[in-house]
Amino acid sequence: MFIKIREVKDECPLCEGMRNLIYGEQQEKIRVRDEEIDVLVNLFYCPTGDHYFQSFNDDEKRIQNAYREYRKRKGFLQPEEIKQIREQYGLSQRNFARLLGWGDITIHRYESGAIQENAHNDILLLIKSFEDFKKYFEKKKNSTDSEIVRKVEDKITEIERKNNIQTFNLWIKCCSTKKKEHVIPFLTKDIIMPDYWGHNKYYQYCANNELALAA
Ligand SMILES: [Zn+2]
Repeated sequence: MFIKIREVKDECPLCEGMRNLIYGEQQEKIRVRDEEIDVLVNLFYCPTGDHYFQSFNDDEKRIQNAYREYRKRKGFLQPEEIKQIREQYGLSQRNFARLLGWGDITIHRYESGAIQENAHNDILLLIKSFEDFKKYFEKKKNSTDSEIVRKVEDKITEIERKNNIQTFNLWIKCCSTKKKEHVIPFLTKDIIMPDYWGHNKYYQYCANNELALAA
């Protein structure tokens, strides 16, 4: 059912004249691969000619909304999530595609809204977390352009340094509080200490101290 949003005076591209048009929305079913998806579509209605038409932007929005829903149903990454993975390692769309061994414009297409192939989505999901990306990168290193490898290695080092400082700050917080619940998660987790601490001696001391306080 077409629901009116507002009236506009504009040219109707079908009867080619200035008309009082109605801009509104309606539910539509769109088929995306093997799925039928309901989307809200915006259109114009021309009462003079009794016909409907759509703007280019609204048509694009209709398709992108259907694609987003399709990805959601299939557990696919959305374009901005793919972009986020890529940018984390300071890679251009082309270099990210090369690292993955895909065609040069593949990532550009996915980030622009095209739906990714199943096999490609599996790999993107596989490298979503930092630790998994590192493992994947280690395997691909030898077959990847050295300039790309160098860039990614620099980023990995930078991320690890940041993570270590964050862990360290949390650890300091843990030691300075007397609350038991702040201590327990750290006892079951591996902590990588920053280089300047050298070893885990102080961590061990902290844990014992807090356990004694908790007892
Ligand atoms: Zn018309």
